[in-house]
Amino acid sequence: MGDVRTTESVAWLAQSAVWEAPEAIVVTDPEGIIRLWNRGAERVFGHSEAEAVGQSLDLIIPEKLRERHWEGYRKTMATGQTRYGDTPLNVPATHRDGHRLSIEFSVALLRDDAGRTVGISAIMRDVSDRRKAEQELRTRLAEVEQRLARESQMQVTVDEDKCCGAGQCALLAPTVFDQRDDDGTVVLLNAAPDRSEHTAVQQAADRCPSAAIRVSRSA
Ligand code: SF4
Repeated sequence: MGDVRTTESVAWLAQSAVWEAPEAIVVTDPEGIIRLWNRGAERVFGHSEAEAVGQSLDLIIPEKLRERHWEGYRKTMATGQTRYGDTPLNVPATHRDGHRLSIEFSVALLRDDAGRTVGISAIMRDVSDRRKAEQELRTRLAEVEQRLARESQMQVTVDEDKCCGAGQCALLAPTVFDQRDDDGTVVLLNAAPDRSEHTAVQQAADRCPSAAIRVSRSA
């Protein structure tokens, strides 16, 4: 960054604030050439200011994304409009050592006194750790949901020959068990009860004096 050190100068304060910011602050010109690269950018992307300034923004854009990026960049320069303003977005980026970063960024268009767009300032933050943690959380959540879904598949069978007609099952889970009018033998109404009924069905099986009820859960 430059050598201006007039401490009372607002320009120097602004310059220092940009240079020292923990976020990566990068300014590119209309051709996408890097014109400003602060200390945060050095830390996030691994390139020094001397290495980055004067280079194309391709320095940090993964190769597969470059075509789409430049299409949007040219359009922004031509129209003076960007949809990446207020709401931070996530994009992949490339570190100097080649590893992939997940970057959250927002941009501001820089205009001259005549209102012409003369560059883009991007403020970027490395959110790789957060994204990784979110992905791990989503994976674990999906596993739990799958396990719950598997456990929720209950199958019930009854052995009428064993049933002594005591009727506890029909009292505990009346939507799943009933009894024949003539001899009280169990009648199975629902062999795959809803999850909300699993506890009652399990209690009915546990308390059945004849062990006539079998409950299984699909693995
Ligand atoms: S609790 Fe057991 S013995 Fe009693 S009615 Fe139900 S199945 Fe038959």
